[in-house]
Amino acid sequence: LNRRLDGLGTTIFAEMSALAAATGAINLGQGFPDTDGPESVREAAVRALRDGRGNQYPPGTGVPELRAAIVAHQQRFYGLAFDPDTEVLVTAGATEAIAATMLALLEPGDEVVAFEPFYDSYAACVAMAGAVRVPLTLRAPDFRPDLDALRDAITPRTRLLLLNSPHNPTGMVLTPGELAAIAELAVERDLIVVTDEVYEHLTFDGTVHTPLIALPGMRDRTVSISSAGKTFSFTGWKVGWVTGSRELVAAVRTAKQFLTYVASGPFQYAVAEALALPDAYYTALRDDLQAKRDILATGLAAAGFEVHRPQGTYFITTDIAPLAPATDALTFCRALPERCGVVAVPNSVFYDHPTAGRTQVRFAFCKQHDVLEEAATRLRKAFN
Ligand code: PMP
Ligand code: GLN
Repeated sequence: LNRRLDGLGTTIFAEMSALAAATGAINLGQGFPDTDGPESVREAAVRALRDGRGNQYPPGTGVPELRAAIVAHQQRFYGLAFDPDTEVLVTAGATEAIAATMLALLEPGDEVVAFEPFYDSYAACVAMAGAVRVPLTLRAPDFRPDLDALRDAITPRTRLLLLNSPHNPTGMVLTPGELAAIAELAVERDLIVVTDEVYEHLTFDGTVHTPLIALPGMRDRTVSISSAGKTFSFTGWKVGWVTGSRELVAAVRTAKQFLTYVASGPFQYAVAEALALPDAYYTALRDDLQAKRDILATGLAAAGFEVHRPQGTYFITTDIAPLAPATDALTFCRALPERCGVVAVPNSVFYDHPTAGRTQVRFAFCKQHDVLEEAATRLRKAFN
């Protein structure tokens, strides 16, 4: 293994999903819904397959129907205008978009500032690009970013900020004030900002997601990334996209060409239809997830976990310290399926600072109500 990949081993999601399969436990670890997305969208994929749309290499930037649908989505929800031919790029999920962006924009030794805990592919992609992570810790209970620390972390070597809001795993959503401060800093220090917005539609209690690229001065210095996986409950389809300026999108496309070239042909047509679903679809998705969040949050609190209620995503970060003060999150999660038939993910693996998330454990709530109730019951019995 090349030294850039030292310590990256097997992702926690693979480890914990394998443990769930081996033990038959309820899998609240890896984030994927236990109910597939809309029937009409599945039918659209079947039609594309049957009619021979996308069965051969689609265009490198994505099929025109999908690029047009992404443009329409950005206009409809955020009032943003993009040119479908030069300012949109379809990728193999957000994962490829992140990888291609890092490989396209980073020189060896460049610094990337990101808030930890971060989604595990960030560390890997920054490392594969030969760049250096500069982690800033989001701290419980609110996980708000420390904007003074952010300002202090910028050096002449800082090439980009890598942001994720709504934030996996904490559920924190950046406020308009925080976004404005970040935008101001990016302009002042001439930084590129990469925004991972895959949970853009999964926000609760009236919390609103605003893409950073919509803020003054950010249109030409932001690479905005999203994906169909979470919004439409098709995580296996791996259809993602990048929107941004012609120059930045062209750079990402150059790297992307040599990663997958293209992916998910027929699914691209189906996602084009999904993006055009009426507002009622998006509202129902977030209402349902909010109800699920409340079921699991109540259950976890009753079992004795300290619960950090998320404003977005489909994850709840908890602290196990009240239950198991001497146990670290990884040890706890490895033992949990045997103990009570539930799988969760240790947040500790999403930090560079080794002790920062030592007792934090994440539970996914994108599951049917009775599954969440059952998981909560098992946890309550195990810890009471
Ligand atoms: N970013 C974040 C924050 C995620 O949680 C995930 C997925 N789980 C991804 C990116 C990857 O998205 P995709 O499945 O579209 O590659
Ligand atoms: N994003 C999902 C999560 O955070 C997992 C994706 C993956 O397995 N790579 O759970």
